[in-house]
Amino acid sequence: MRFGLGYDVHRLVENRQLILGGVEIPCELGLAGHSDADVLLHAIKDALLGGVGQGDIGRHFPDTDPQYKGISSLLLLEKVGAIVKAGGYVVNNVDSVIVAQRPKLAPYIGQMVTNIAKTLQIEEVRINVKATTTEGLGFTGTGEGIAAYAIASVFEVRG
Ligand code: MG
Repeated sequence: MRFGLGYDVHRLVENRQLILGGVEIPCELGLAGHSDADVLLHAIKDALLGGVGQGDIGRHFPDTDPQYKGISSLLLLEKVGAIVKAGGYVVNNVDSVIVAQRPKLAPYIGQMVTNIAKTLQIEEVRINVKATTTEGLGFTGTGEGIAAYAIASVFEVRG
């Protein structure tokens, strides 16, 4: 078994959609970024790439490349799933935490898990998404940005 870690932060700004785990969440602010700025999926993709020793998403999908402008992070997650598979690995599980003071994310977590599991073609019980606030402290607490952490485990397919 191998493990990978991912961490990401994006700034909350006006005139952007808030997309987390591939779910559009009603909010007057959204995350800024070159892609759809789905901070949760970015952390999960980095965790998966880390688990298989394949660097990070910046290496595979550079934000200087116009083809990735505004791209769906679910589409890139699918590509990361293919990298994992091509390396001879299978995803065992993913655990993650979104750090945001608001909006309330609990109503959307189930759909995020469904999106991630479906995209990686694994069972939903292997995917976990949590959300927490920071009690008003730090940049997440003031609503300047949203952070996400993820850990993934993968196992090697022998055959
Ligand atoms: Mg990012």
